[in-house]
Amino acid sequence: MLKQTGRFTGASRHQARLIYVVLILMTLYFSVIGTLNVVVFQDYLVAALDYTGAVAVTAVLVYFHRSTQLAVASWLVVGVLITVMLSFVHMADGRAYSLMWVTLLPPVTFFLLGRHAGAWICGLIFTYVCTFVYLRLPYWPPAEVTIGSLLNIIEVLTAHWFLFRLYERSRAEAFAELEHLSTTDPLTGLLNRSRLDTVLQQEIDRHQRSGQPLSVVLCDLDHFKRINDKYGHLTGDQVLVETAALIRESMRKTDHSGRWGGEEFLLICPDTSTDATHTIIDKLRRATADASLPHALQISLSFGIATWRASESSDQLLKRADDALYEAKRSGRDRIVLAPQ
Ligand code: GH3
Ligand code: MG
Ligand code: MG
Repeated sequence: MLKQTGRFTGASRHQARLIYVVLILMTLYFSVIGTLNVVVFQDYLVAALDYTGAVAVTAVLVYFHRSTQLAVASWLVVGVLITVMLSFVHMADGRAYSLMWVTLLPPVTFFLLGRHAGAWICGLIFTYVCTFVYLRLPYWPPAEVTIGSLLNIIEVLTAHWFLFRLYERSRAEAFAELEHLSTTDPLTGLLNRSRLDTVLQQEIDRHQRSGQPLSVVLCDLDHFKRINDKYGHLTGDQVLVETAALIRESMRKTDHSGRWGGEEFLLICPDTSTDATHTIIDKLRRATADASLPHALQISLSFGIATWRASESSDQLLKRADDALYEAKRSGRDRIVLAPQ
């Protein structure tokens, strides 16, 4: 079942794994404790509660497995955990170290819900538990729990709250930075090739369902080697950065642009027909001619546009765009060629 986390990418893969682990452990826990309550303690009421818990947790597990709705499942897991913890605290009247269970809340909630919702949920439940202890104080034997004990509980819970919030923030930031580095081309700031591969496959899957047109464009700087040879590699790099900026300005927010390699770029235009893509790309082609560059350089780009055919693979689509780009180069450069549909 944990293999199913392969359906998730990035941070959500770890969250999906935690959801599966927590749900499977809870199902086992409830089943074993329920059976113990029947066989050993003959406490049928508590056993009934345990089995109800096992059924509820299994239902969440099945729901998550089928729907892969990470956000909904995360809230359900936290909800089930809180219900179980508070039921236990109430049934034990706060004794028998039942309060210890509440300290499990921060690692789970911060990890699954993020630091904002995590901070709120933990803050609320901790306040509730401390109020509960305070109200029960007069009914407990004085040696067992005192105001000093209550202060200890408050201090430990507050420390947990701060530490896990801090920990979750640095984890999320480090992950975001790592994700940025692993998906971005360092020179141009556009998507890198591996990210483009993922995005293209996701868009193909999405368009398979929606039936909307999906177009891709391969473009390549013309005679770029001459620029390197004449003005040096650094100037060449600068031209690549400027070209990336022109691409970014010309494309729409919903498009994806990345560096396919060397002086070649891949642009992915979701929900866009061949004609509409041609209009966008022609604007980029003209903007390239007007660009102001170091050494008053004049540059141009050649383009190959291909629009996805139903059930065509990403490799086949890219091959058609590449053939069209090759044709643009062959027929004189600085032009757009459409792949035959
Ligand atoms: P064409 O019009 O046929 O595309 O000719 P071209 O000169 O642009 O193509 P060619 O494939 O002959 O040369 C591409 C050059 O791009 C060669 C390579 O050194 C250079 N190049 C690739 N990556 C980089 C880079 O990151 N920085 C710089 N400055 N040059 C690069
Ligand atoms: Mg080139
Ligand atoms: Mg090239």
